[in-house]
Amino acid sequence: MPELPEVEIVCMGLRRLIVGKTVLSESHDSDKAFPNSPGDVGGFLLGATVVSVRRRAKVILVDLSTRYTLLVHLKMTGQLVYVDPSDERFGAGHPNASLIGALPDRSTRVTLEFCDGSRLFFNDQRKFGWMRLIPTNEIDTLEFFKRVGPEPLDKATTADVFVARIKKRLGTTVKAALLDQSVIAGVGNIYADESLWGARIHPATRVKDVSDESLRLLFSELVFVLALSIEKGGSTDKTYVNAEGKKGSYIKFARVFRREKQPCPRCSTEIVKSRVAGRGTHTCPVCQK
Ligand SMILES: [Zn+2]
Repeated sequence: MPELPEVEIVCMGLRRLIVGKTVLSESHDSDKAFPNSPGDVGGFLLGATVVSVRRRAKVILVDLSTRYTLLVHLKMTGQLVYVDPSDERFGAGHPNASLIGALPDRSTRVTLEFCDGSRLFFNDQRKFGWMRLIPTNEIDTLEFFKRVGPEPLDKATTADVFVARIKKRLGTTVKAALLDQSVIAGVGNIYADESLWGARIHPATRVKDVSDESLRLLFSELVFVLALSIEKGGSTDKTYVNAEGKKGSYIKFARVFRREKQPCPRCSTEIVKSRVAGRGTHTCPVCQK
């Protein structure tokens, strides 16, 4: 599943490519992927110009000149691919052949065409993702956005903010608390394991048993791994292609994630895989007691 860095990379690519472009036409093959009325589409999408592209948690927000926003959730297997008449191409999200093959294809759920002939394809093999048109000023009232925690990479989200929020989950394991989207937005399995290793905290430790000092270190490690992953083009072990058409490479820099039986980069002890918070979890038994 695309995590925060991958979704941020989608946004960075789209910001460069579609801001200022006007939507000419729209087609879709499934109302589940595109649950919008023809009236809304005609009134607020067709003829609208893209004003900005933002991200909140793992949701992509495409703001339009009509004061509507197209929300895009990639879920498990979604991807966005931009193709223009000169064949410039940008694709990111779920890593499969549709990122580089001829489009539309069997996984294409929604196609937007812009006035300059460029097109944006929303592909989704497993059909869990969606594109939803809503008034921009109603975004904050949606249940998901009301519940979701602050953005880890926002300057306003300080270590103090993080510590105060995670300490509302004193009885849970620190890994479960990190994965809880209402504590902090957008953290998935990879970045939870990597940041816990960085802070030398065992993922199964209860939040109440972790010192404030260690929680502050955990936050700085989390920010570090997320920022590094965005810089390296996201994290996947498949044929993920980012805004510049490069394969994602964070996974090469991972210190514990999917490195079971390999030496810990800090102490050379073998990394072990276990199960914490219902998820495959990678730890160093010496560094993370
Ligand atoms: Zn170690």
